[in-house]
This record gives sequence, structure tokens and C-alpha cells, in this order.
Amino acid sequence: MKEQLAKITQTIEQAAQTVGKSKQDIMLIGVSKTYPIEAIEKAYHLGITHFGENKVQELMAKQEQTQLPIQWHFIGHLQRNKVKYLIGKVVLIHSVDSLKLAKEIQKESKKKGVTTSILLEVNVAKEPSKYGFYIEDVVDALKEIATYSHVKVEGLMTVAPYVEDPELNRSIFRKLFQLSVDIQNQNIDNISTKWLSMGMSNDYHVAIEEGASSIRVGTALFGIRDYSKELE
Ligand SMILES: *Cc1c(COP(=O)(O)O)cnc(C)c1O
Repeated sequence: MKEQLAKITQTIEQAAQTVGKSKQDIMLIGVSKTYPIEAIEKAYHLGITHFGENKVQELMAKQEQTQLPIQWHFIGHLQRNKVKYLIGKVVLIHSVDSLKLAKEIQKESKKKGVTTSILLEVNVAKEPSKYGFYIEDVVDALKEIATYSHVKVEGLMTVAPYVEDPELNRSIFRKLFQLSVDIQNQNIDNISTKWLSMGMSNDYHVAIEEGASSIRVGTALFGIRDYSKELE
């Protein structure tokens, strides 16, 4: 894992340089779904402090298994009936894919007296199998969520298609970056574009070259995933 991380760090550094950034400008999230807490703790001791999970139950189980002050991110499709378990437990929910979900997060956050940071998930390529807002619907959604007292939008996220050649995703990343710039230019109250969460093991270098500030890397760090270990 140490070697894998060294490789990832070097790749981040190189990609960041091409856009005038340094590796500190890129938040590396270790996507730990299906991997045991031991692997997460090992990665933590190598310097990764942000971890992403895509199942509420699995996230909660892992939180109970460790004492480390890990910054947890939620990156999977979130059902509204599970929102109440998640509020207060994660630093960022990347995958808010509907207004109904945002409204539920507002409701539960208000109940608990906390403000929840979220990203809007965008289905850039309009893939039928994926969740997320279409690009043309994002600004209207943001204007609505901007009125929520206990939700703070901090940017955008996308899950690009899995492709052998990461160059094939470049235009998708570029479109999300452009949307982020457009939103920034609109100066909507209570809306920030701090995070652009895009890029995974296969294509994170391309994502960084196109403006990603947060990348979600699983396989390249932890190795091939065994989905039979997945909960739910
Ligand atoms: C699993 C997952 C990742 C990480 O994928 P890898 O290819 O293993 O790096 C990133 N983002 C989301 C939303 C995921 O579900």
C-alpha cells in the first residue's frame, strides 16, 4: 500500500502542476467500501485522513470499529429513509442527486442542530444507469437549496463512466468544471464551488488536469475490491 500511495501522490503532483496547483490543493479520498477497518487504519497511518463510503450501514459499522479521527465522506446513492443515520457523522455528502434528498437532509440537520455540507451529483453524460442532476437542471436546484437553513452546498461531484482509456472522460470533467465556473460567476448566496469531486482510480490524473479539487480513489490504493464483502 505504501508503494501504491507513493505512486498516487506522484501522479497527483504531476497532474496538479499542469494546472498550476500543488498536491496540497487536491483532497485525496480513500474509497474504502468493501475493505476492512484494518486496511483503512493502515492507510490512515500512511497519511490519508479522508475516507469515502457508499453504504450507510457499512460506514456506521466502520466508525464504531475505530478510534482514529477519520474524516468520513459519503459518496453513494443515499436513500431518504437513511439520512437520519448519516447526519452529523460525515464531513461531506458528495452524492445529493435530487431535491427531495436535499430537503430531507435539511429536515434532519435542523432537527439535530447541525449544518450539513453537501455536493450536488451531476450526471454529465446522462447515463440512464446513473443518479444525478442533468447539467441544465443544476442552477435551479441550487437556487432552491440555497434557501435551506441547515444545508450548505460546497460544490459538485460526478461519477464518470468506466472507460479503459481515461482520455475518453476528459470532456465530461471539462463540462463539470465549466458548470462550476458558471455557478461561481452567478454568485448565489449560500452556495460555494469549493469542491469539484471527480476522478477515480482509472482517471483521476485527467480529472485533476481538468480542475478536480477532490478525487476518490479506491482500487489504486487498496487493490482489487471483493464485492462479496459488501453489506446490504
Ligand atoms: C467505488 C467508487 C469510487 C472509487 O472507485 P475506484 O475505481 O476503486 O477508484 C469513487 N467514487 C464512487 C462514487 C465510488 O462508488
